[in-house]
Amino acid sequence: MSIAPTSLPLETAESCAQQAMALLHSHRLPPMPVNYAVAFEYHAGAGGELHKLLDAQLQNGKALDEYLLRDIYERHVASDRVRQFNTMRNDMQGILQTLMQTIGTADSHAEAYRERLEHNIGLLDDENGSHTLKEIASDLLEAAIIAKRDNQSLQANLEATRQEAEQLRDELEQHRRDALIDPLTGLFNRRALEQHLESLWPESEERPLAVLLLDIDHFKRINDTYGHAVGDVVIRHVADTMRKCIRGEDVAVRYGGEEFMVLLPSTPLDGAVKVAEAIRTRIEALRLTRKHDNLTLDPFTISLGVAMRAPEDDHESLFERADQALYQSKTGGRNRVTVSGVS
Ligand code: GH3
Ligand code: MG
Ligand code: MG
Repeated sequence: MSIAPTSLPLETAESCAQQAMALLHSHRLPPMPVNYAVAFEYHAGAGGELHKLLDAQLQNGKALDEYLLRDIYERHVASDRVRQFNTMRNDMQGILQTLMQTIGTADSHAEAYRERLEHNIGLLDDENGSHTLKEIASDLLEAAIIAKRDNQSLQANLEATRQEAEQLRDELEQHRRDALIDPLTGLFNRRALEQHLESLWPESEERPLAVLLLDIDHFKRINDTYGHAVGDVVIRHVADTMRKCIRGEDVAVRYGGEEFMVLLPSTPLDGAVKVAEAIRTRIEALRLTRKHDNLTLDPFTISLGVAMRAPEDDHESLFERADQALYQSKTGGRNRVTVSGVS
C-alpha cells in the first residue's frame, strides 16, 4: 500500500490540495473530509494503489460518488491509520512495563541500603567504635530514609501516571474497536473481515467454512424513489435481518455500499443455504413504513451467492466464487440464492 507521506513540501501540498478540490468540483462532490482525503491522496500518491484504482474508475468514464470514495477511504486511507494506531498502543504498553520494573528495582535497592546501614551501626555499637564514625553512619541512615521517602513519593506519582496511561490505552482500544465497525449498520467492516478470516482460516482446513455474499436488488431505484436517507434505513434493516438469522460465531460484515458478507464457520453447505434462504425470505416479507407520512415502501429483495471453502482456496478465490454465484443470482432474475459450482 502506498500512502502519501504526512508531510509534503508546502508548494507540493498546496498544488495537491488545489488539484483535489478541482477533481471533487468536476464530479460535483462536496469537499468534505473523506472525499477530500481521497482526492488529496490521489494527487499526492501518484503510482500508488489508490491512484491506480481511481484512475481505472475515471478511465472507464465512470463518475465518482461519495459511496465509492468512502469505500476507497476505508480500504486505502483509514486502514493505514489503524496499523499506526496498533503499533502506538503496543509501544505504550512496553514503555509502561519497563518503567514499573525500573521503579520496583530502585525501591528494593533503597530498602537494601537502609538494612545494610542499620546492620553496620549495630556493629559499631558492639565494638565500641569511635563516636564520629557512628555519627557518620547515623547521618547516612537518615539520608537513606529520606531517599526511600523520595522514592515512595516518586512511586506514588508514577503509579498515578500509570493509571492515566492505562485509561488512555483503554480509550485507544475503544477507538480500535470502533475502527472495525461500520457506523451505519453496526456490522463489522472489511478490515474486521480480514482479521476474522485470518483467524478462521487455519481451522477451516478441517471444518467447513461457508461464505454468503448478499446484495440488495435494484437498490438504485430505492434511492431514486425515496431518497438516500431512506436508502440508508433500508441498509440498516438488511443488517438487522442478517443479525437475526445468524449464530454466535458467525461474522456479518458490511462489505460495500449495499453489499454484505457472512462468514459461517463450522457450517456445511446445507446449513449455509438455510441461513441464506432465511435472510432472503425475511427481507422479501419486510414491509417498511416511512415515519413522517406513513407511506409503505415498495417491498424489496436481495440476491445471494454461497461458496464453501475448498482446500486449494485462498481468501480471494473463495470470495471470487461467492461473487460469481451472486452474479448468477442477479442474471437469473434476482431474489434468489445460488451456490457456487452447482448449476
Ligand atoms: P443490482 O440489483 O444489480 O444490484 O442493482 P443496484 O441498483 O442495487 O446496484 P448498483 O450497483 O447499480 O447501485 C448501487 C447503488 O447503491 C449505488 C450507490 O449510489 C448506492 N449506495 C451505495 N452505498 C450507499 C449507502 O451507504 N447509502 C445509500 N443510500 N446508497 C448507497
Ligand atoms: Mg444492488
Ligand atoms: Mg452492489
